[in-house]
Amino acid sequence: MKRNYQKELDKIIENQKKQQWVPKLFLHSCCAPCSSYVLEYLSQYFQITVFYYNPNIYPKEEYFKRVEEQKNFIRRFQQDMFQIREQRSCHEINFLEGIYEKDKFYQMALGLEKLPEGGERCFQCYELRLRETAANAKKFGMDFFTTTLSISPLKNAEKLNEIGERIAEEYGIPYLTSDFKKREGYKRSVELSKEYGMYRQDYCGCVFSMKERES
Ligand code: SF4
Repeated sequence: MKRNYQKELDKIIENQKKQQWVPKLFLHSCCAPCSSYVLEYLSQYFQITVFYYNPNIYPKEEYFKRVEEQKNFIRRFQQDMFQIREQRSCHEINFLEGIYEKDKFYQMALGLEKLPEGGERCFQCYELRLRETAANAKKFGMDFFTTTLSISPLKNAEKLNEIGERIAEEYGIPYLTSDFKKREGYKRSVELSKEYGMYRQDYCGCVFSMKERES
């Protein structure tokens, strides 16, 4: 039977609310626009650390542009939330940048360079990023880890959850099941990107997706 990841997440949040527990979530983010809705939604229920680990991004100028955009958005979003905190709860959001270890990505993509976006190379790319996220989540004593990636209509939520849960077993830290494109999450991320005047890239991130876009 097909799983409904949004409903699973609803249940987790409901239980937390009953216990008045605000867990620590280590959230892998691919970029500021994708993180916008996820932060608006989850910061009501979790203390979040955004983990920017994306060694797939090409070229390096693009990488640094996306990191800056991510930091700016978190700062501005928290300022805004602070002002309306009487109407809406928002827990503190921290930021951590991972290592831009491009070689790791190219090693992983060996032999998969010509595959179209959405295929096996992407599944390996999800795994590379989620593995590093889980390892750091464990190291920093977080309660959950997850990723913003499922918000994109081009990303396979089933595969992301499957990989996340497998890695969770290995590292001994729960993966927060999710499909952030549900409940109009993607649409809201586009609205927030406009509202905050964010830079929205037009390719996924790696050199192969850049070439695919160009062709
Ligand atoms: S298209 Fe996106 S998900 Fe796929 S390998 Fe490239 S950067 Fe990773």
